[in-house]
Amino acid sequence: MSNGLEGILLGGAIVAVLLATATWWLVTLLHRRMVAATSFALDSLVKLNATFAPDLKRRQRIRLNFNTRVNTKAKLDRYDLQAHLRECLFNNEYQIATRIEEMLARLATYSEYCSRQEELGTKGLGCSHSDRLTDERYRNIEKQLFFKRVLRAPRQSARVRVSVSYTSPKGRNSYERHLTLSFDQLRDEFEVAKKIRARQNTTVFLRQQERNKVTMKIRAQVMARDGYRCRHCGVSPNHDPGVVLHVDHITPISKGGKSDLSNLQTLCQDCNLGKGAQGMGFLS
Ligand SMILES: [Zn+2]
Repeated sequence: MSNGLEGILLGGAIVAVLLATATWWLVTLLHRRMVAATSFALDSLVKLNATFAPDLKRRQRIRLNFNTRVNTKAKLDRYDLQAHLRECLFNNEYQIATRIEEMLARLATYSEYCSRQEELGTKGLGCSHSDRLTDERYRNIEKQLFFKRVLRAPRQSARVRVSVSYTSPKGRNSYERHLTLSFDQLRDEFEVAKKIRARQNTTVFLRQQERNKVTMKIRAQVMARDGYRCRHCGVSPNHDPGVVLHVDHITPISKGGKSDLSNLQTLCQDCNLGKGAQGMGFLS
């Protein structure tokens, strides 16, 4: 008898707790809906999210693997991974630059979203009311919903792995050295690689520009000054038909030579190309 009563009481208590929980849950749900339907801040956040979400929710990854094999252990040990990395970055410059720019653009978008969302929170939260809720309850629910709906930081990751490996004959031993870059490291490395590339391009450009200064007029001046003779072996087209004269930089442009008359000389083709009587020694 007593056992049966206890059972009924326990069962009743459980039902009461369940009912209370369900009621509380239902009331909270209704309150949330009420707040969501009337809050200016939440409404603005939903609109803001709709603008930014398509861009921020996409997942972005950069995955690059560059492996090189060498045929001796010694080569593996002295292999310059850093230089290899730069070369790989050069060779995939366009692809990597595009991806890095996409990621940076998205971080910029996210930071813009954050500042607008924060402004909305500061100015908008606590402005709206409902007759059916106390202001405090309203504000608490509004704040909760607001921070729950704020978009998270975009998910993006980068992993660039450069490796060099060596496997001994018959595959008995395998060795590997590698370098792994995160997104920030990749970005820094890429900037360095780009600067090196730019410097090389500038050098090539400046040399070409120096070469272009040797105009037809300058050529004619140099040859006239040198008496239309090779300054090295003395041949001249005036005496030996078939001789071709070149205008040559005494100090090569690659070594800092300029296209001034003082640095230019007349040479026959053979001497200029290093086939002249006195050989390579003369050539600058
Ligand atoms: Zn010559």
